Amino acid sequence: MPTRRANARPPEGPAQGGRGRDPNTRPSPGLLEADVAVVGAGAAGLYTALTAARQGARVALVSATPLAESASYWAQGGLAAAIAFDDSPQLHLEDTIAAGRGAVRPSAAEVLCAEAPARVQELEQLGVRFDADRRGRLALGLEGGHSARRIAHAGGSATGRRITRQLSALVAEDERIAVLERRRAAGLWMVDGRAVGLVCDDGRAIATRAAVLATGGAAALWARTTNPPGAVGAGMVIAHAAGAALADLELMQFHPTAVVAPDGAGDDVDGFLITEAIRGEGATLLDEDGERFVDELAPRDEVARAIQDRLRESSATAVRLDMRAVDAGRFPNVVATLRRAGIDPAREPIPVAALDEPPAARGAPPPLASVRAPDATPVPETRAALWRHAGLVRTPEGLRELASDPHPLARLIAACALAREESRGVHRRADHAELDPALDLKHAVSRPQRAPSFERWE
Ligand SMILES: Cc1cc2nc3c(=O)[nH]c(=O)nc-3n(C[C@H](O)[C@H](O)[C@H](O)COP(=O)(O)OP(=O)(O)OC[C@H]3O[C@@H](n4cnc5c(N)ncnc54)[C@H](O)[C@@H]3O)c2cc1C
Repeated sequence: MPTRRANARPPEGPAQGGRGRDPNTRPSPGLLEADVAVVGAGAAGLYTALTAARQGARVALVSATPLAESASYWAQGGLAAAIAFDDSPQLHLEDTIAAGRGAVRPSAAEVLCAEAPARVQELEQLGVRFDADRRGRLALGLEGGHSARRIAHAGGSATGRRITRQLSALVAEDERIAVLERRRAAGLWMVDGRAVGLVCDDGRAIATRAAVLATGGAAALWARTTNPPGAVGAGMVIAHAAGAALADLELMQFHPTAVVAPDGAGDDVDGFLITEAIRGEGATLLDEDGERFVDELAPRDEVARAIQDRLRESSATAVRLDMRAVDAGRFPNVVATLRRAGIDPAREPIPVAALDEPPAARGAPPPLASVRAPDATPVPETRAALWRHAGLVRTPEGLRELASDPHPLARLIAACALAREESRGVHRRADHAELDPALDLKHAVSRPQRAPSFERWE
């Protein structure tokens, strides 16, 4: 990651602080001050840091992992924005609400759809080069759940890589942004219920007027995942430990077309996500008899469920994604990864499956031990338990077992999934197969020390 390091050697790092001293108890290393502390260097964190700096703020950007380990870097298909002349934010909103199965917060979706075209334009102004058609206009892809072509992409299917590279180069140049690489935020520094800073796992405190937790999602808590290993919901655990409410934990998307790699193909290929933009360009899903069995452009949860049903009926381990009729040149990184695994998508369909299984008076900085949130790193047993009990189909018995898992976020996920006694979109309960209209627009909210409660969000 081409970033400028801030205080790469902390004043009281191991050299001065004494080898082997416990960071929980040693005095806080030198205090760093900033207007805004941003945790996470994915697209959200990088963009937040740049935006705050452009408004004149001094920013501290804390990143646990190198760039290539953020989900943003891995994102393939692109960004949805109603840019085409025959499209509109209103149509985009209608598609979003329909795909959300009554669980979408309309006011949030409105902002998303209304602002998306301007955000794409802004990324272009920041130097991100999106793919263009022959006339120089943005080339827009089609994806599941969308009734119009509205996916802006870069480098074929390397959109996330292009965006994060460009944004991190701008961050590196920006004098107002101090980057603390390979540091992990461990807890929020709270005074009177307000965050006045944060503390990293080496004990360093950052005093700030605002802290933004942009640590990505929690999909890597599940045993099989398309996400990088750092996506374990660290920010959610930190926020919850500091008193924040979390919502919608039971709703986890399972991507329908992740590669089932042949034996010996390597870990980087098994579970590799094949962007649905490829289905948008005409790739089809075939069962073991070579027959199509689902509308490939239906919303993801529908496609994932159709694949799982077909696998259960046939006892096969994978269905096939046939992209032989698609221009492979548009998706160079997908083709290269598949070829490494011995699969030539120009000649043969690809085996894929459902991966079934969100300036105050502050005094002296607190010692790490007093603010440290529970460790978000899952043990393999937790990942296996989430996969088993909080996958595509959930049972109350399995969820109750998960509710006593040692991982704090796994327990909260189980509690929310138990509370939602219905099947809706990605959340499917074996004992409550139908959608419950009484839960339309209702979100399971998890507050510290309380059982989840349902709140209606307009
Ligand atoms: C394979 C794949 C393909 C995808 N394709 C698309 C797509 O085509 N279109 C689309 O819209 N979305 C796509 N997504 C989803 C999209 O990538 C994510 O929703 C988005 O990138 C999330 O961005 P983020 O900045 O919030 O989090 P991330 O990119 O995950 O970044 C999180 C950052 O937080 C850091 N971090 C975590 N914990 C700590 C801590 N305790 N202290 C300090 N730093 C911490 C991590 O190191 C990382 O830098 C895809 C995801 C994957 C995995």
